[in-house]
Amino acid sequence: MSYDTGNIFAKILRGEIPSHKVYEDDDAVCFMDVMPQAPGHALVVPKAPSRNVLDADPAVLAKILPIVQKIAIASKAAFAADGITVMQFNEPAGGQTVFHLHYHVIPRIDGVPLKAHSGKMEDGAVLAANAAKLKAALG
Ligand code: AMP
Repeated sequence: MSYDTGNIFAKILRGEIPSHKVYEDDDAVCFMDVMPQAPGHALVVPKAPSRNVLDADPAVLAKILPIVQKIAIASKAAFAADGITVMQFNEPAGGQTVFHLHYHVIPRIDGVPLKAHSGKMEDGAVLAANAAKLKAALG
């Protein structure tokens, strides 16, 4: 399977569609997932194009995990989380629905199950408030 430049995250990276962005550097952006599986669910997306971990340049993979860590640490503080779930899916059989490599960073509260993957669209104001909390925790 080849990379499709028309995927929704590529459009966000090109600024063609909006996102609730919380972080950007030379290698990646982080924005809120519009169908969060828990409040504060964020996505870390490398700027370099690849479908997923199967076709990614190892150099891109090496750069992305420290960014995932940075977001995870900030997320735990921002949402007073007991833990963080990091998820990453590859190809439809692996659960992937958007075909540009990304990592889910989800704050977790003890005993609270995750909501459905790609379930319900969150209100824009809630996403904006959570983006602001995460941004503040990133400093
Ligand atoms: P995956 O199954 O790992 O490919 O997950 C894709 C994720 O992207 C899902 O959790 C969706 O809720 C999320 N998503 C889809 N469209 C958008 C969008 N425009 N902005 C932010 N997140 C999105």
